[in-house]
Amino acid sequence: MRRTMKQIRLVVLGAGGVGKSSLVSQFMRGVFNTLYEPTVEDCYRHFLQLPDGNMHCIEILDTGGTHQFPAMQELNIKTAHGFIIVYSIDDAESFQEAHKLRKLVVNVKGTENIPLVMVGNKSDLAVDREVQKDEAVTAAREEWRCPFLETSAKYNRNVYDIFLALLNSAETCENRH
Ligand code: GDP
Repeated sequence: MRRTMKQIRLVVLGAGGVGKSSLVSQFMRGVFNTLYEPTVEDCYRHFLQLPDGNMHCIEILDTGGTHQFPAMQELNIKTAHGFIIVYSIDDAESFQEAHKLRKLVVNVKGTENIPLVMVGNKSDLAVDREVQKDEAVTAAREEWRCPFLETSAKYNRNVYDIFLALLNSAETCENRH
């Protein structure tokens, strides 16, 4: 069987403080940092081999808060192949922000056929939950039409699965073209 190397550029979007950098750090280095350092923009590269043997070179752009540098954000969206849109389950406002970001992505890309994953992070903070899982599952299935995962960057729950789901979503979108 012929194996291929695919290159994919991902952008992680979400309100400030929802855990974007923590998810990327956990995925890239297996490290969780309790310090909150607002990100302007960080770029990482990671090689991932899928069960089918194919290699993926993933470029991950970890972006800053939602209202930072709109022109830069638009350019990042234009040049990206896939998106991870993160909210925090203990912050209803960040869920609303996630919806706005998804709309922005759809507007900039001019299509709804976009590799995308909705992520509800901080699942370990269930006692402070403000976003019900059912609500997010329904929004992902009926509105966004994309995979959904609740994750904990802190305890490394479902973090790897975000990237697998995104690569699968990228294949599905490619096949729809
Ligand atoms: P970003 O602004 O979206 O990149 O958020 P950060 O990754 O910097 O995280 C903001 C804060 O939330 C930091 O204090 C993190 O330690 C904390 N945090 C991130 N992910 C989790 C998580 O899954 N669970 C908990 N309890 N805290 C988290």
